[in-house]
Amino acid sequence: MPENIKERIEQLRHEINRHNENYYQLDEPSISDLEFDTLLKELQDLEAQYPEYQDDNSPTHRVGGGITKNFPTVQHQFRMYSLDNSYDFDDLADWEKRIIKTIDEPVEFVAELKFDGASISILYENGTLVQAVTRGDGFQGDEITSNVRTISDIPLRLKGDYPERFFMRGEIYLTRKNFDKINKQREEEGLDPFMNPRNTASGTLKMQDSREVRKRRLSSVLYQFVAEEAPADTHWELLHKARDWGFTISEQIKLCKNLDEIKDFINFWDEERHQLPFEIDGIVLKVNSLKQQKQLGYTAKSPRWAMAYKFKAEKAETELQSVSYQVGRTGAITPVANLKPVLLAGTIVKRASLHNEDIIKKLDLHEHDFVYVEKGGEIIPKIVGVNIEKRSPESKKIEYIKNCPECGTALIKLEDQAIHFCPNDLHCPPQVVGRMIHYVSRKALNIENLGSETIEQLYQAKLIENPADFYTLTKAQLLPLERMAEKSAQNIIDGIEKSKEIPFEKVLFGIGIKHVGETVAKKLVKNFSSIDELKNATVEELCQVEDIGSKIAESIVEFFKNPENILMLERLKSYGVQLEKRQTTSEILSNTLEGKTFLFTGKLSLFTRESAEEMVEKHGGKNISAVSKNLNYLIVGEKAGSKLKKAQELGTVQILDEQEFLDLFS
Ligand code: AMP
Ligand code: ZN
Repeated sequence: MPENIKERIEQLRHEINRHNENYYQLDEPSISDLEFDTLLKELQDLEAQYPEYQDDNSPTHRVGGGITKNFPTVQHQFRMYSLDNSYDFDDLADWEKRIIKTIDEPVEFVAELKFDGASISILYENGTLVQAVTRGDGFQGDEITSNVRTISDIPLRLKGDYPERFFMRGEIYLTRKNFDKINKQREEEGLDPFMNPRNTASGTLKMQDSREVRKRRLSSVLYQFVAEEAPADTHWELLHKARDWGFTISEQIKLCKNLDEIKDFINFWDEERHQLPFEIDGIVLKVNSLKQQKQLGYTAKSPRWAMAYKFKAEKAETELQSVSYQVGRTGAITPVANLKPVLLAGTIVKRASLHNEDIIKKLDLHEHDFVYVEKGGEIIPKIVGVNIEKRSPESKKIEYIKNCPECGTALIKLEDQAIHFCPNDLHCPPQVVGRMIHYVSRKALNIENLGSETIEQLYQAKLIENPADFYTLTKAQLLPLERMAEKSAQNIIDGIEKSKEIPFEKVLFGIGIKHVGETVAKKLVKNFSSIDELKNATVEELCQVEDIGSKIAESIVEFFKNPENILMLERLKSYGVQLEKRQTTSEILSNTLEGKTFLFTGKLSLFTRESAEEMVEKHGGKNISAVSKNLNYLIVGEKAGSKLKKAQELGTVQILDEQEFLDLFS
């Protein structure tokens, strides 16, 4: 029997790896998410049941799932130095001269791109990835192994003839394409877009949920082998060996014999970098021979054998024509500078983001100022300064608006935020449209074929004003819209009809209660099985739920105070949208646990928390996520903490160990 199990485990791993590859590299999933999750679940269950077949490189780790609350600090065995910077060819020539003076034999250089991401050090032992650590302060960093495992082009197991133990260093980054994709999706979900790929990449590495990390589709490039001993004499050879072991090594590296060849490389990429699918901020030059590297050594901060050449951020001067204000789908106001068109980094720039009032104040921006615009990592250029000499004495300061440009409501500014908001969320046009776009989005009601443009048109035509209106739409109303064919109209109607099957937790996310994201919605549904139960909950009761603080709780209570929201919910209910948790009867195996509530805490060893919770539900019980007098059973594993203490204090909760829990079924 175990032989069969082992075979099945290997087969599943193989298949999941293959699908993963299609998903990332070809960008087209070969099976549905559901099918994928089913395979994965089977593998996870088998691995939990047969720990002897555990393998750190199983795709169950690749796909994430682990939650890290605090990343442990790890000392770097070899310090991660920074690089010395040079900004022009004179600096470079000085550096080369110093090197030639120290080394009296020919010196070769490897020229590489300077990737703009987050640096990482990954430890491999016996061909297996064992640990990944951020750069931190160079002496110690954060251990983020489980997140790094989810990055698809980082090998978990090496091929060929690799050394027994070594570190590979490199950069984790986001391609422009994936960065845009993330922002597009955030926009659909009513979230503010991220500023630039670099910060998004480093922020992603520190996310607690590795499943979310996987979805961001980070990329890697490795550029440095580090160990007590190297299996080659030059950096160039090491890079090529590393490529054979399975690492992604940059395609754009060049061996240069002298300064002229280095300059050619720099000039070429200064032009061409805008065509790369990712962002770079310069070029890195490294002495090729490891023996020479050793001879040159390190300064207090950086290796003498390496140098970064930073590209100048491209800058242009132009006239500010006006400042306009955009209202986002969440009501956030973004000031935008309208500029006299100017050529910058190969594109014509007409607008620049001003971000918020503080930035306008800091620039001391006046009407018709001449401003410097720069294109850094951000997609939208920004204003970095004002040419005061060209300012006319009569010109007036830019005054920030007090009222919403879309609906006239007085703007508010939250204590801890730099951004202004329009609080009229139910009637401010972009917010109304934003709410409906959020409602149909993939993670909410997933109404396919109903895009933001169509919603905009329907709103303009006064056919819809809130999510409940979708359910009264008719084909006859859709057909007159621009570019609306018979077939697409039918698809929309069908999609809306199908959304009535979407489970409560997604509907709860979809109706757009402020601060209620996907995860919070799930947690709420675990504790409140219908919209009416939730409506009647007090702030205190809501705060009992795991991860729900007073900010979220108050926002929920506030939402239900508004009669317009209540009316919308009543209408949704009457159209048959799921506003309570549905128990599929086929899943119920018995009613042994009926009416009883359960909570698991500590490290479980006989089963996983998910499978235990599933078992509770299949036998008629209910899982809740906080210790209160509503709790009947607390099942404690190893190292149970505050929950156990609280249950003991309460005295009304039955405390069981894992075996005692299983005994409930016999
Ligand atoms: P800086 O942060 O300006 O001191 O530059 C040093 C950083 O450049 C390193 O910590 C790396 O993260 C990054 N870097 C990007 N590409 C390379 C490369 N090809 N070789 C070495 N470092 C690189
Ligand atoms: Zn408004």
